[in-house]
Amino acid sequence: MRDMAKPDGQGEPVIPYGVCYYPEHWPRNRWATDARMMAECKFNVVRVGEFAWSKFEPEPGKYDFAWMDEAMELLAKEGIRTVMGTPTGGVPPWFTSAHPDSLIVKRSGEKAAPINRYFTCFHHPDFIEASRRMVEAQVEHYASDPRVIGWHIHNELGGNRCHCERCRGAFQQWLKERYGSVAELNRRWGTMFWSQVYNDWSEVPVPIATHYNANPGLALAWERFSMDVFYRYAKMQADIIRAKAGSRWVSTNLRSQVHEQWISTNIDPHDARLFDLLDRVGYNNYPHAWDGMDDAVNSYHLDGIRPPSARLNPFDFEQRGGQPGWDLVSRLSRPGEMRLLAWHPFAHGTDGMTYFRWRVAWFGHENLWGGIVRHDGAFHPNVQPSARKVGEELEKAGPLMAGSRVESQVAFLRSQDSVWALARQPQQERLNYDKHLVDYYRAGIRFGVNMDVVEAGEELDRYRVLVMVMHYVMTPALADRLRRFVEKGGVLLATFRSAVVDQDVAVPEQEAPVWLQDVFGAKVEAYDVQEIERYGTRPNDPPGRLRLASTLGGGTAKAHSWYDLLSLDRAETLATYDTEFYRGTPAITRKKLAKGWAVYMGTASEPKVYSALFRHACGLAHVKPLARVPEGVEVRERTGADARLRFLLNFAAEGKSVANGPGWTDVFTGKKSPSLIRLGPRGVAVLQRPLPG
Ligand SMILES: [Zn+2]
Repeated sequence: MRDMAKPDGQGEPVIPYGVCYYPEHWPRNRWATDARMMAECKFNVVRVGEFAWSKFEPEPGKYDFAWMDEAMELLAKEGIRTVMGTPTGGVPPWFTSAHPDSLIVKRSGEKAAPINRYFTCFHHPDFIEASRRMVEAQVEHYASDPRVIGWHIHNELGGNRCHCERCRGAFQQWLKERYGSVAELNRRWGTMFWSQVYNDWSEVPVPIATHYNANPGLALAWERFSMDVFYRYAKMQADIIRAKAGSRWVSTNLRSQVHEQWISTNIDPHDARLFDLLDRVGYNNYPHAWDGMDDAVNSYHLDGIRPPSARLNPFDFEQRGGQPGWDLVSRLSRPGEMRLLAWHPFAHGTDGMTYFRWRVAWFGHENLWGGIVRHDGAFHPNVQPSARKVGEELEKAGPLMAGSRVESQVAFLRSQDSVWALARQPQQERLNYDKHLVDYYRAGIRFGVNMDVVEAGEELDRYRVLVMVMHYVMTPALADRLRRFVEKGGVLLATFRSAVVDQDVAVPEQEAPVWLQDVFGAKVEAYDVQEIERYGTRPNDPPGRLRLASTLGGGTAKAHSWYDLLSLDRAETLATYDTEFYRGTPAITRKKLAKGWAVYMGTASEPKVYSALFRHACGLAHVKPLARVPEGVEVRERTGADARLRFLLNFAAEGKSVANGPGWTDVFTGKKSPSLIRLGPRGVAVLQRPLPG
């Protein structure tokens, strides 16, 4: 909303709400019209600059910020502030022409061509120096500008992944610091296998794509190293900004962990050091873009980029506004969909949003990426009304939302190491770490609780239930923390392929779950897989069956993909297999350990079983749902200083009724809310209730 105390476009709005704007793409005489139209949409902020290097520094060392100053001034007259982006995502040809050796070497071993973006090596000294000079000049110019409310580093960290000889040298140095001696590296990676024993650091290669996979230890170390490279590049920029513009927050736009197209070039979006580096975590949010990304996937993304201990709530820098469009064009948002998808991040704790993008470009790689404004300069009839409506609603909800927190009793313990290791060795065609995690996430949404997504570095004892899905890579230290978590009264729910290998993807001398057999009271004696036909020589294996104990609702259910055959030690059986030669063998178990419980799920099944397991774990931990919601509706809460805010989001294309209970006020109408709430198709309700006392 517009902050009426400061109509001059200065200072932080209660909830920054606006759009990504590229004045460099449009004639100057259009800028004032754009600013006026943005105000009509209730926008109070723009993100600018992140691809304008050619305009900020048209020739080496010659900087020009006058054009941006002029655009910002016109925006400020309409009450619109600026988040300033550093422009290093796109690199001018004057740089790459002078430094052709700065182009990244791709995983395929080929050199990138400078015909798009993210094509420079983060170890190239001249590129680092050019980036530093560019950012320093920009920060020098805008450090004390009252229109700038925050800084946005680079764009989508993780694109510039490089395998060149410079990077190889840096990798060898990185390994030396972590493994100490080549002998230790050889021991931990098991390089005796296929005769890969290194005599010197200089012999260690980088995992270029070749006719067969790299040593798993090498491959995982490379991913961790690459994260370090991205972190150090971001820190270089953050340090420059902090030194001169200390009072402004620093952020960037991390990408979703679950967009399959991006997984191979993506970073760990939950990297604790990145979270620490950024004053507020920022991200992109493109649900329903091309791949039919479902709403549970998106909820998982939105919880994953919200560090539970962050000082400031996250900022959604690229919210799906118009139709995504690169080589392929994504579908047009259905009526109500854009508003629903905008409220989704706010329900998950976000406190700032800019749509991508203001106006669809006339030219360039994204000349089909839809905006609030069309090619002809008019508002898009399906997009702008939703943007304005959300802006009006934020005027009412924003003051209640700002600074409020998502408080969760349930967390998913995510393992990026497992994502990387399983991406190279999926073990069964249908198994995918994030997809299987979302099977359980969907059960949590169905149950109706707030959920966090944490990595091992986070405090675990604040939760009552921890869910660990295919947590393949385990360490003795994490296993000890999990044991203590259960002993102190927590409920740990883990699935098959958890705790199988150590941090070098080597198997310790025991069966899964390694270091945790005593916690679960279960040991994987053998496993079977459901084979999928691949060579036209045999039919697919049929799925298996489970026989469920009454604790999980009784009856039978499908089992598929993976079957752990368990032996038990002081654990109870919650389900057995009902097929194959292992009929009667335990498939799902639980064990009481001191004050808590450890539940083990040895197979993949169907939604009713995931829901039963989630409900059972919450029951053991005395965690109750926020509200009982029907299929398709998500309930979330944020807790502020004085009130609880409840968000009801209907992702279904038909209306739904929610038995919400008494005592709530509708934030948009200010009226007392009925106990039974009727949500229209893709409807949203935001309710508040004062905190007791
Ligand atoms: Zn390189």
